Amino acid sequence: MKKIVVDIAVLGGGPGGYPAAIRAASRGKTVALIEANELGGTCLNRGCIPSKALIAGSEVVENLKNADAFGVEVKEWSFNYSRLAQHKDQIVEKMRKGLEGLIAANRIQLVRGFGTFMDNRQIKVTGQDECIVTANQIIVATGSEPRNIPAFSFDGKWILDSTALLELDRLPKSIVIIGGGVIGCEFASLYANLGVEVTILELLPRILSTEAEEVADAISKAFRKKGIRIETGVAVEKVEKTGSGVRALVGDKSFDAEICLVAVGRSLNTRKIGLDRIGVAVNDQGIVIVDERMQTSVDGIYAIGDIASPYWLAHVASHQGIVAAENACGYTATMHYNAIPSVIFTHPEVGSVGLSLAEAKKRGYRAVLGAFPFQALGKSQAIHHPEGFAQIVVDEKTGEILGAQVVGYEASTLIAEMVLAIQNELTVECIAETIHAHPTISEAWHEAALWAEGLPIHLPPKKRVVNEK
Ligand code: NAD
Repeated sequence: MKKIVVDIAVLGGGPGGYPAAIRAASRGKTVALIEANELGGTCLNRGCIPSKALIAGSEVVENLKNADAFGVEVKEWSFNYSRLAQHKDQIVEKMRKGLEGLIAANRIQLVRGFGTFMDNRQIKVTGQDECIVTANQIIVATGSEPRNIPAFSFDGKWILDSTALLELDRLPKSIVIIGGGVIGCEFASLYANLGVEVTILELLPRILSTEAEEVADAISKAFRKKGIRIETGVAVEKVEKTGSGVRALVGDKSFDAEICLVAVGRSLNTRKIGLDRIGVAVNDQGIVIVDERMQTSVDGIYAIGDIASPYWLAHVASHQGIVAAENACGYTATMHYNAIPSVIFTHPEVGSVGLSLAEAKKRGYRAVLGAFPFQALGKSQAIHHPEGFAQIVVDEKTGEILGAQVVGYEASTLIAEMVLAIQNELTVECIAETIHAHPTISEAWHEAALWAEGLPIHLPPKKRVVNEK
């Protein structure tokens, strides 16, 4: 069998693995990147990028519907989902080619096949490039895939996971979505904007349960306004095929639709790669245990991304990849989780970082909330996106920003300011003292900061929301 000997091997070419490989190559190391499928992982091929291409298309449709507000009369228009699906595929293809070029430009040896540990320095690769890769240091970045629940017998046609749903080239008339988490809500919003009848069935008392209550409430309200049916506190036991579609069963109730999306979480790709053979420790949830340098219990073996993370997010995986690569190259880097942005591409969008007011209270802070509604912003009114708000959670004792949440147009971009603020331990006064350009939506942060200080300009004076210990 062919042998490849390098300084550093990276197993998995997703948003965790490929930045790790690039950083190691930039540090002058010889690097092999082993990938069983397409470069770019879930994010580029079956997640973030294709879903955003579809969501962008649905926004064009929304703009057409609202064109009248700007005096634009659109008398006749039609929408062809399969053309939007083609646009999505083209974007993915283009990005993938770009990534392949980047890997080649960094002189990283791309090994196509499925890698399994033989021992803690050797990986056997089967598939297109059969070989044995030997490396001094190995970074494992094998990611996750949609959780497959036997009671929801997936058939890829009527009962689908997010990967199969992204591959459809036609729109259904109706969809029942099991799970009101991030994936469920992003697809619910996209499909409702395209005129599909949507029902969300969520086990917990509210959708987006990991977000602040104010955020989940705002999204629920916006969804209901779009006509999305939301049923919370329901545990779907089974999904079955009917003559004309599918039926989700919850006790003595049932929910019918043409197709069903199952979005109840993801499972980790840690099996079958031989981690147990080399003695890598995992916790009781199957997550690989790593130290702050991203090193596992085995010297010279690092793990990054979903398999080794409290956050299953592409941008966290990428940062972990750089930390692992630095350490594998003999430099020192540590991973920190104090300012992790979360962005959800619903309509309206969500951005959040740090603590919610309720979490701050639980941790014993006397916290103040500064909030500002978009409807009071000139820019939001001018562009006809007045829905949403920005809010900052502040430690009243020190003024430090503990968290921030934003719901509304471009929330995914707006949250960056608060990520930088929390990362650098800024106080709310720093935001109040910062001149924000006018007219922009980022003024909402300025106004929220002024509100937290009790000195609002564009809102009537009001008692501050203080969270007594
Ligand atoms: P999730 O864990 O976010 O949500 C799954 C939801 O399903 C939960 O709310 C859970 O209560 C519910 N559920 C579980 N079993 C159920 C049942 N039998 N009946 C009804 N409801 C049930 O998982 P997801 O939405 O599949 O997303 C997976 C991961 O991908 C997440 O970690 C997420 O952070 C990540 N992701 C992030 C983004 C983003 O950042 N924009 C986008 C997509 C995915």
